[in-house]
Amino acid sequence: MARVYNFSAGPSMLPEAVLKKAAEEMLDYQGCGHSVMEMSHRSKVFQSIIDGAHDLVKELYNVPDNYKILFVQGGASTQFAAIPLNFLNKSGKAEYIISGRWAKMAYKEAQKYGDVRIAASSEDKMFSYIPKTTREDFRPDADYVYYCMNNTIYGTTFKYIPDTGDIPLVCDVSSCFFSEPVDVSKFAVVYGGAQKNVAPAGLVIVIVREDLLGNAREYTPTMLDYKVHADAGSLYNTPPCFTIYMCKLVLEWIKGFGGLEEMKAHNVKKAKILYDYLDSSKMFKGTVVPEDRSLMNIPFVTGDADLDAKFVKESTEAGFINLKGHKTVGGMRASVYNAMPIEGVEALVEFMKKFEEANS
Ligand SMILES: *Cc1c(COP(=O)(O)O)cnc(C)c1O
Repeated sequence: MARVYNFSAGPSMLPEAVLKKAAEEMLDYQGCGHSVMEMSHRSKVFQSIIDGAHDLVKELYNVPDNYKILFVQGGASTQFAAIPLNFLNKSGKAEYIISGRWAKMAYKEAQKYGDVRIAASSEDKMFSYIPKTTREDFRPDADYVYYCMNNTIYGTTFKYIPDTGDIPLVCDVSSCFFSEPVDVSKFAVVYGGAQKNVAPAGLVIVIVREDLLGNAREYTPTMLDYKVHADAGSLYNTPPCFTIYMCKLVLEWIKGFGGLEEMKAHNVKKAKILYDYLDSSKMFKGTVVPEDRSLMNIPFVTGDADLDAKFVKESTEAGFINLKGHKTVGGMRASVYNAMPIEGVEALVEFMKKFEEANS
């Protein structure tokens, strides 16, 4: 069977070159006679893999020396609890910017641990825009301000970094990780699940400023204490070895692409093809205000639920899979992460044009 164009929001497409390389190395990793899947995480050869992944994160994301890069498990959702457990430790107050469902879930989880407040929200208009904040929106004694950079479900993205003054800033970058450069020095913590843009599921990368470690609440589960993972070089227990290996291959692929500036230029060009069509189409409409549109997740609707369903069915049959929108938005969503080639989006737009012609 030919490979389809997979527009899944996650787990999502991986670069074909990466899958091929992993297949080549599957039975015998670089002459060691066994697979990465079968490897001891305490072996020299695995150490070189995790070190390689670490160094590529540092290089590509331009991580300053006073930050630790951790490979942890439990998905982004587990970090919703780990963040307050590690950082809600002085005033016990935290400020959340609610720009979508994932930020809201993080907020709900954090509420278990302290005086956690919504500082800004775009829920009034179904999260179709990004709230604009200023320093005055946050309580000055808050332990941190939290937001989600790219809203996977609603297709909005922050094009500014919230100004929080001296308050540490925590950010979930799951669905825009390594899609463009980020100034890590502006953040206390940046973290993201790997399965959107970086690797298969099973891995979260946490980039945390070193001086913030070591103040987790006493009852914090050991596995959620970032200092434990920092001190152990992310080898406190068995890490998701194969996913870390895949992450290394993807990061090598991004490096070969020319790094994050190049990746961003590619993503801008790719997203523009679909947005330009949505803006010109009489049938399909984007659901997000133009200035806050995501480069990664592009929701769109026809305005007619039956027509949406027909489109999803016919596009799937034509080899464009996982275009059905999230249940809370309806319609369609095309997730066009790094690994989606330009040709995939061009082919989708051609298909949409034909569908529009045939159904109007
Ligand atoms: C997918 C996603 C999550 C949840 O990730 P899990 O690994 O399933 O817990 C959290 N935040 C964002 C922005 C996401 O896109």
